[in-house]
Amino acid sequence: VLLEDPSANLVASSAGPNSSDQQFFNEPPLDFAVLNNREKMNQAIDQWRSKFGKTYGPVVNGSPISTKRSISRENPSRTSEVLGHIGLASVDDAELAVRTARDYSAKWQSTPASERADLLDKLAERLKAEKFHLAALQTLEVGKGWQEADGDVAEAIDFCRYYSRQMRELAKPRRVGRAPGEVSLYHYQPRGVALVIAPWNFPLAILTGMVSAALVTGNTVIMKPAEQSSIVASELMRLMMDVGFPQGAVQFLPGLGEEVGDYLVKHKDVAIVSFTGSKKVGLEILEKASVVRPGQTHLKKVLVELGGKNAIIIDSDADLDEAVAGVVYSAFGFQGQKCSACSRVIVLESVYDRFTTRLVEATRSLHIGPSTSPRSYVGPVVDKEAFDRIQNTIMNHEADFKLAYRGEAPGGGYFISPTIFTDVDPASALATQEIFGPVLSVIRTQDLSHALKIANSTEYALTGGIYSRSPASIERAKNEFEVGNLYINRGNTGALVERHPFGGFKLSGLGSKAGGPDYLLQFLEPRVTTENTMRRGFIPSEEV
Ligand code: NAD
Repeated sequence: VLLEDPSANLVASSAGPNSSDQQFFNEPPLDFAVLNNREKMNQAIDQWRSKFGKTYGPVVNGSPISTKRSISRENPSRTSEVLGHIGLASVDDAELAVRTARDYSAKWQSTPASERADLLDKLAERLKAEKFHLAALQTLEVGKGWQEADGDVAEAIDFCRYYSRQMRELAKPRRVGRAPGEVSLYHYQPRGVALVIAPWNFPLAILTGMVSAALVTGNTVIMKPAEQSSIVASELMRLMMDVGFPQGAVQFLPGLGEEVGDYLVKHKDVAIVSFTGSKKVGLEILEKASVVRPGQTHLKKVLVELGGKNAIIIDSDADLDEAVAGVVYSAFGFQGQKCSACSRVIVLESVYDRFTTRLVEATRSLHIGPSTSPRSYVGPVVDKEAFDRIQNTIMNHEADFKLAYRGEAPGGGYFISPTIFTDVDPASALATQEIFGPVLSVIRTQDLSHALKIANSTEYALTGGIYSRSPASIERAKNEFEVGNLYINRGNTGALVERHPFGGFKLSGLGSKAGGPDYLLQFLEPRVTTENTMRRGFIPSEEV
């Protein structure tokens, strides 16, 4: 449709039991060109500033737990500013959380799926009502820019609405087989206690996605957020309690991954581990969770969504205006700290020089500054560890490849200028290992076959993109580019729930796509009940 009213699709999906009949609409982004929205965001940031210094700790069975140890969370844009303190759960707290979750399991499992879905819809409404408050916190806690922070809150809302309507469908038993005298029903049961371990880079969306999926399917949940984003996670916990999730259904355990995370992964009463994070930790979790511990009477289900080394191919006939803008945003949006971010751009020889010159100039124009300012396109990286790791990576490769661009970065925070290396060897560490920062490798190639070979040559398969005006090249990319999410003539980040179900394969992960039709099934065990109805002397109803 070329001439549709542009406002026609801008209504977000309404919550409620009948919503599954309607088309799903994503929560629309805020428009910060509107003065009122800018004022609200600035006010929300100021409100957070007035609350600095509080402690955010574990909540087990509805009660806050005081902890012996805590860590401070500083604002990565201004490291002299301490946002608050995170109370670190101990192994004893983790044990109590598992016991609480296990004891409440049967009750939660027998709560009708429609009631659980109603709670998700209520949570979506609360997240929406507190949009500015939650987005403002993200600019302070993890250094997300305004638009990105709003996008993260919108995605959390979408996850709740999408999984709630999915569960309403899944809860209906399905008749399988049509043999007279026999009724077989295919239905699902929850797995038990779900451990959710989340990363910091989509601090609300990824956590909410995993937690809401586990809960709506009837599992009780232990929520273990990343150390860097535990205040955002604590806000999610507050909202979940406010909308009425039972105290036994969800336990909040901020703490050190290698300590409480490790303890929980190995726990005999944990039935499912849903992890999103780095390859290193994900692989360790897979290994540990495969061991059956004394007293354990089930096999653990493990979902791991890991990293990427995502490439965009620039074909010889690509629209370079679009390609430059798409690559800049995909590589440097949120400082390259998205699992989907573009970190390799593979350019065909005939357009290499033209593309690279323009890419460098476009990158030079990006404003670097605090994420609390709407003017900043590039903010800080998340913490000192990330800052040191990324700086070292850049330094270590300065002698190996041409440093085509590196600008000045302001002081006072963990700022790193977007950095572009050109003529990078596609087999080098720079071009094959995930950096998770604003560092882009440009790789020169003769033709599309070679470009696809390079694109597929890493151990990851998360996102990928191609800019091309050739239907034959696009067709080849569709068939040969080994990625979970392929984007054609657009940037390769910004997946939306339902429209772009998200996730990878190879060493990028194991599991069905988040925000897609198969996701919830992973949190459930399918069962079939077959009844011989002949003995009662009648043909069963066909309506089941
Ligand atoms: P990370 O692996 O360092 O940490 C993730 C979580 O694991 C944190 O909560 C951490 O506390 C916990 N953890 C750490 N060690 C643990 C252990 N031994 N046992 C149990 N838990 C442990 O990752 P991160 O730095 O938070 O996130 C960045 C990574 O996540 C990147 O590699 C990125 O690509 C990936 N990621 C992937 C996706 C996806 O959908 N595929 C999405 C976002 C991020």
